[in-house]
Amino acid sequence: MRNASVLACAVVLWAAAPPAHGFPPLPPAEWRVIDDFSYPDTRAAQDAWRQTGAAGPVSVEQVSSGRAVLLPCLFSEKDGDRSAWDYRLSIDMRSSRGIRFHFYCDNPSPVAGFSLSLRSGNGWYTASFGPERKGRWTAVTIDRASTGIEGRPSGWGKIDTLRISAWRGGSGNAVCAIGNLGVADEAGTVAVVRAESVANAGMSDARSVCDYSGIVFRLSVRAGVPAVMASDLDLTAEYLRRMQVAILPYNPRIPDDVRGNLVSFVRAGGKVLSFYHPPQGELGDLLGIRAGDYLKEPERGFFSSIRPTADAVAGMPAVSEQASWNIIRAVPADDRCRVAAQWYDKNGRPTGEPAVLVSPHGVHMTHVLLPDDPQNKRNLLLSLVAAALPDVWRKAFFALRGTSVEEQTLKTLDEAALRKPQVRIFVEDAARAKRMADECAGERRFEEAVAHSSVAREASLLAYCCAQEPVEPEFRGIWCHSAFGPAGMSWDEAVSQLARNGFTAVFPNMLWAGTAYYESKVLPVAPEVGTLGDQLSQCLDACRKHKVQCHVWKVFWNTGGRASASFIEQMRREGRTQVSFSGRPADAWLCPSHPANQQMEIDALVEVVARYPVEGIHLDYIRYPGSDACYCQGCRKRFEEMLGFQVKNWPDDTRKDPFVRQSWLEFRRQNITKVVAELSRRVRQARPGVKVSAAVFPNWPVHRDTVGQDWKAWCDAGYLDFVCPMDYTAFGGLFEAQVESQKEWAGNVPVYPGIGLTVWPDRGDIVKLIDFIGVTRRLGTGGFMVFDYDASASRRYVPLCGLGVTKPR
Ligand SMILES: [Zn+2]
Repeated sequence: MRNASVLACAVVLWAAAPPAHGFPPLPPAEWRVIDDFSYPDTRAAQDAWRQTGAAGPVSVEQVSSGRAVLLPCLFSEKDGDRSAWDYRLSIDMRSSRGIRFHFYCDNPSPVAGFSLSLRSGNGWYTASFGPERKGRWTAVTIDRASTGIEGRPSGWGKIDTLRISAWRGGSGNAVCAIGNLGVADEAGTVAVVRAESVANAGMSDARSVCDYSGIVFRLSVRAGVPAVMASDLDLTAEYLRRMQVAILPYNPRIPDDVRGNLVSFVRAGGKVLSFYHPPQGELGDLLGIRAGDYLKEPERGFFSSIRPTADAVAGMPAVSEQASWNIIRAVPADDRCRVAAQWYDKNGRPTGEPAVLVSPHGVHMTHVLLPDDPQNKRNLLLSLVAAALPDVWRKAFFALRGTSVEEQTLKTLDEAALRKPQVRIFVEDAARAKRMADECAGERRFEEAVAHSSVAREASLLAYCCAQEPVEPEFRGIWCHSAFGPAGMSWDEAVSQLARNGFTAVFPNMLWAGTAYYESKVLPVAPEVGTLGDQLSQCLDACRKHKVQCHVWKVFWNTGGRASASFIEQMRREGRTQVSFSGRPADAWLCPSHPANQQMEIDALVEVVARYPVEGIHLDYIRYPGSDACYCQGCRKRFEEMLGFQVKNWPDDTRKDPFVRQSWLEFRRQNITKVVAELSRRVRQARPGVKVSAAVFPNWPVHRDTVGQDWKAWCDAGYLDFVCPMDYTAFGGLFEAQVESQKEWAGNVPVYPGIGLTVWPDRGDIVKLIDFIGVTRRLGTGGFMVFDYDASASRRYVPLCGLGVTKPR
């Protein structure tokens, strides 16, 4: 906060300023504001916020009672893949939950996404954010625990720059604004220790470190655990003295000083909850845990759930689903330590492999915590923390009493929705469970109170789902990434579930470049077909039986680690695989300009429609992997033929010479478009009425250059019957702006926007899914797509959709 005299002076100045850009009033901050933007003049604001790329200089405006910094994105006038502003600040964030601010964007259409980065030493902490609703201020929280790592940051005590970036998604300008820049303070005694030192050590798993510690942190918060995120770069002995539990969510490396601090912490009465890597050395001895060997799943579904033993900890769910692919074995070293849970397979049989070990000094789980089955995972995590810190039941109960996300969401329903009979049943269930929770809490039986609260939360969510209304007719498609359907289900069970819950079409991923999951004469057949049978005919039979459309999903060019080594070797020998700009072979990808590749990909789909009565074919990866491909000799030859002359400096001129560059981008687009045109013609000839659709990147004006995917041209030329942009953002305001633009680009061709539930940070967020479906309905798309139909979707959001938003009539 700046000093009062400057503030008073600024108020006078802005009182005379012209009215703001029609922004709605800036809401008050519910956090500690560190800069209220009371700059003496525009110059001072521009000194504080330095623009780069396609950004314009900032200005400051009075918006109702607060001030906002305006950030102009000049994508029409300036080059660059983003508009960015660097704001200097010197801040110690070790005791903050993260950054908070209000954000507004008057026109998110030309923006692919927003990110906030914090510089520390030689690296950055970065997270994406975006407007939740168009035309409103969004209160943004950037949790430290949800940031990714770039470069080699030096910890959270040394932040010196904040950077806001708006990434180019098209042309056109936009004005963004931020206000009430502040930090969220935090107090907690359970430290989730993020292994940021792996980035400094040059290890490649910084991404996994962020993912798995993020999962543990989010579930802790949802469970009411007083959790704080601590970087292992900041984990001093003094910091640990304020903590009761240290969680090691995924720590492939523990620096020596941190290891020493953890040992002292345990000796002084602290507890450790570790995942995957068993504590070693003195720490392992203290916990009484002996590390064993690495164990890969012997077959799919071997590790399917975690269930308590007779020696369990209090409050552990009877079954926590978790589809793990491996564990690191760990066993009790002595009788202080016991096995509290073990792994069960997909048929519900015990595997004999310990999942959770408990000792007086801590708890260990033999794999990382995965985000599937989030309700039980939340309770599992709470029970593990409670095994180390029994008082956490009381803390969790009071932290969430009546304020859980589920109960807050239920409060948004109107009277009419609450009167629906099915909704009332769940609302009454929730109220009853809440009363019982309070009763238990009154008798200080907090573990039971939390269990009742959990029931109340679930009933609230079910009430909310039941209150939703379906709209008909509507195209409701779901991608299924596995050719075998969701794990643990036959195709008949899977498609029957979709039909019961109002989904109208399934998009099973049946063929890749070099692999078919059915009896093909064009592509090599996957070995599993020999044992499990022709997946396409099984899926199609189920679709006909349950009256669900079948649109066969094909991955183009990308062999996806599925094609045999001999197939790839043959392709490479024939000069049919991709080569990067620097000349590096990219054997996993077939060259899109090679005529034999084009022919093979087209023939594969013609064979599908000729032999199987499918409703549609669906093109995916119908593009280049990025701007780095393809620079093989064949591409050079074919490009120069198109140009009519030889490229003087190959391949540099494709980037540096303006004419050659434009021609190169056009050459790439044409290679892809030619395939779409030809296969569209041929499959329609082979099976009249078959629908041709494509999964495409969301921002056509940008992606036609970066990946050669000119999908507006495909719509204009009538090659597609509908188009499914992969609008996988988790921010509603961006989603809405994207769909609006896409409808314009597609013209008369229907747009069924792809909702990326499985790739959201909080996968399975049914409330957000309902919101996004609402956006597609408001914009009149006539349908939507959901990614992805896997085991957790079949357990969770597909049936929740069926309660209301997609309920069959
Ligand atoms: Zn090539």
